[in-house]
Amino acid sequence: MSRDGVEFGGLVPFSTVDFPGRLAAVLFTRGCPLRCRYCHNPHLRRRADTQALDWASTIAWLGRRKGLLDAVVFSGGEPTIQAGLADALTEVRGLGFATGLHTAGTVPGRLARVLPLLDWVGLDVKAPFARYAAVTGSTGAGARAYRSLEAVLASGIDYELRTTMHPALLGSEDLIAIARDLRARGVRDWVLQPFRPAGCVDEALVARTEPYALDTLLPTLRRLVPGIVVR
Ligand code: SF4
Repeated sequence: MSRDGVEFGGLVPFSTVDFPGRLAAVLFTRGCPLRCRYCHNPHLRRRADTQALDWASTIAWLGRRKGLLDAVVFSGGEPTIQAGLADALTEVRGLGFATGLHTAGTVPGRLARVLPLLDWVGLDVKAPFARYAAVTGSTGAGARAYRSLEAVLASGIDYELRTTMHPALLGSEDLIAIARDLRARGVRDWVLQPFRPAGCVDEALVARTEPYALDTLLPTLRRLVPGIVVR
């Protein structure tokens, strides 16, 4: 499916888990410059050669979902690499839907520009900002993610910060470092997501599954960021 300046890779027609408190359709964009080892959508990291569905049909379908859905979430891949993201969000909002975005904060300038078109953002915090390259395989990703976090916090819109935890990528000291980073920004809520193997193509990560000592780690983290949810 395509729209000028946005490359889409698929659609989930109905979700209760991708936009807190809303019934949402999820539109997946194609392409991501990061290479997180735990990625559960590796098929969406590459830009596509062909488009399977067209945007006009999707917009028409969304038009028929008014009253049945509350919101549309743009996910990926990494939606902020798409030059036409603002126009697509404007079009979806024009239908009367709330808009949400899942992002790793990869393109902070575009994220800042689309924030006024969003009702909610789910922003990944993948590592302590100084250690981003170790988790994402991308030099400079930490500085970009930090700028994105600052833009989201300054925007005043609803947001959720979430971190995927795998012991081979983030040790307890890394999680404490993230918590300190968030506390320094005044953040009080944080979602921790234990690694799930579904979709992950990194066999070494899938094979290593020893759990964190959350009984002792969580109280330490909550002294820094009180509103931690593990899900
Ligand atoms: S940012 Fe998301 S889509 Fe991109 S590699 Fe990481 S997990 Fe996969």
